[in-house]
Amino acid sequence: MSHDKVILVTGGSGLVGKAIEWVIENDKGRFGKMEDEKWIFLTSKDGDLRSTEATRAIFDKYKPTHVIHLAALVGGLFKNMKYKLDFLRDNLLINDNVLHTSHEHKVKKVVSCLSTCIFPDKTTYPIDETMIHDGPPHESNFGYAYAKRLIDTQNKAYYDQFGDKFTSVIPTNVFGPHDNYDLQDSHVIPGLIHKCYLAKKNGTPFVVAGSGKPLRQFIYSRDLAKLFIWVLREYDEVDPIILSVGEKDEVSIRDVADAIVNAVDFKGGYSFDTSKADGQYKKTASNEKLLKYIPDFKFTPFETAVKESAEWFIQNYDNARTGKH
Ligand code: NAP
Ligand code: GDP
Repeated sequence: MSHDKVILVTGGSGLVGKAIEWVIENDKGRFGKMEDEKWIFLTSKDGDLRSTEATRAIFDKYKPTHVIHLAALVGGLFKNMKYKLDFLRDNLLINDNVLHTSHEHKVKKVVSCLSTCIFPDKTTYPIDETMIHDGPPHESNFGYAYAKRLIDTQNKAYYDQFGDKFTSVIPTNVFGPHDNYDLQDSHVIPGLIHKCYLAKKNGTPFVVAGSGKPLRQFIYSRDLAKLFIWVLREYDEVDPIILSVGEKDEVSIRDVADAIVNAVDFKGGYSFDTSKADGQYKKTASNEKLLKYIPDFKFTPFETAVKESAEWFIQNYDNARTGKH
C-alpha cells in the first residue's frame, strides 16, 4: 500500500515517542492514524543521530516526507547539573544532523521539541513563545537550554533561506508510561513514583529532594502526544507553540509528592531533603496561543494521569527504565 505521508519519529522509544505511538494506534477520534500515513518510530539502535552518516543512512532508508524530532539527551535537574557539556554537544549534533538531513531530503515538515526549561531565568510571567532568546537560561541546565534554543534559530534560518517548513513545540514537564524511572537521573514525577514504590515495598523512608516549594506545570505524555499530532497535521507557523496546561494548573513539588503517595497508596509520611537543589523556582508558561488554535482540547486531570503513570510503572517494574539494567 502506498502512503502519501511517511512520518519518521526520532526518539520513538522514549516517553513522548511511545505516547505518540500509543495515540496513533489507540485513538478512535481525530488523533488516531489516518489512512494516508505511515508512521516509523526510531530508537537509538536504528543509528546514533550524533553521527551525520548514520542520520543520512536512516533518511535514505525510510525517505520520510514528515519528521517529528524528539531524540535528545534528556534528564531531570540533577542529571542536567552533572553533564552540561554532554547536554550541549550531543543535542547540538543530533539537532543539526536531523534538521539538515531533513532539508537535504526535502522533508515537507519537521516538528522539533523544545522545553519550557530553556527560557530565560530572569523573566516576567507568564512566559510566552516570544521570550525564548531574551536572556540567559537557568545556570543548572544551560547546556541543554542553549542547544534547544538553537533549534528555533535554525528553523527560522531554514525558512528565510530556503522556505523550509520546520517548526517546534515547547512542552512543560512531561510524565507518563515509558518514562525514565531512574532514581538519580530522572525527572521529578518518575523519580518520586519509583522512590515511593520502594518505600512502600521495603519500609524505607520516602525522601523528596529540595524544599517542595518550586512550582511546575506538568503535561501527561498522552495529552502531549495528541497535541504533537495536531501540530504535525494542522499548525502552519515556523514560530514555536507552547504545549501546556493552564497557569491555574501549576502545582508545587509538595502537591506532586501528595498525588504520588495517593497513587501508590503509600501509608507512610515523607520528608524533604533541603540539602538538595530546588532548581528554578517556577517557569509558569501561558497556553493562550494553543487555546486560540484548539480551544476544545481536554487535558487529563493531573491526579488521573499520575495514577495511570504509577500503575504503569508498578505493572512494568521489571522492564521499565530504572537504571537497574
Ligand atoms: P526520553 O524518554 O529520554 O527518550 C529519548 C529518546 O531519544 C529515546 O528514544 C532515545 O533512544 C533517543 N535518543 C537519545 N539519544 C539518541 C541518539 N544519540 N541517537 C538516536 N536516538 C537517541 O526523552 P523524552 O522525555 O521522550 O523526550 C522527548 C523530547 O521531549 C526531547 O526532545 C526532550 O528534550 C523533550 N522534552 C521532554 C520533557 C520531559 O519532561 N521529559 C519536557 C520538555 C521537553 P533509546 O531509547 O534507544 O535510548
Ligand atoms: P526541572 O523542572 O527541569 O527542574 O526538572 P525536574 O523534573 O527534575 O524537577 C525538579 C524539581 O523537583 C526540583 O525542585 C527538585 O528539587 C524536585 N525534586 C524532588 N524530588 C526529586 C527527584 O527525586 N528527582 C528530581 N529530578 N527532582 C526532584
